[in-house]
Amino acid sequence: MTDNCVFCGIVAGRIDASLVHEDERTLAFMDLNPITPGHLLVVPRAHAASLAELDPGDGAEVFRVAHRLAAAVRGSGVRSEGINLFLADGEAAGQEVGHVHLHVVPRFAEDGFTLTAAFGSPTRAELDDVAAAIRRTI
Ligand code: AMP
Repeated sequence: MTDNCVFCGIVAGRIDASLVHEDERTLAFMDLNPITPGHLLVVPRAHAASLAELDPGDGAEVFRVAHRLAAAVRGSGVRSEGINLFLADGEAAGQEVGHVHLHVVPRFAEDGFTLTAAFGSPTRAELDDVAAAIRRTI
């Protein structure tokens, strides 16, 4: 736990949150500035600023809980024709809070949420090169 981490504050009960789920390793609560109603966050109780610092068991548990909560959202009456699971690792990826968190975002047609990118169209040889580079570091 770190004193200046807002999600550690929620885990410790020092900062208010609208809790959805808690267990030994994780906590889930509503996002303060939801993309759509029902947008929630799943966090490990143990502080980890990034994926590199995250205990793999905590990571598995965070995903397990998000999987379960996605189904709960779908059955809850909250408008949800689809779900995005989203995790920003690092400032360049859009991470604002330095405690790993997995977003569970209910989606519906014309909800205003867009992801834009300059999608590439590499050759098979280029894809194979990158795949090989990544395989070497697993
Ligand atoms: P990210 O950009 O992936 O780091 O997302 C951080 C998310 O945390 C944003 O969607 C914020 O709205 C949300 N957030 C920040 N502070 C709080 C808080 N005290 N309680 C609930 N959600 C929060």
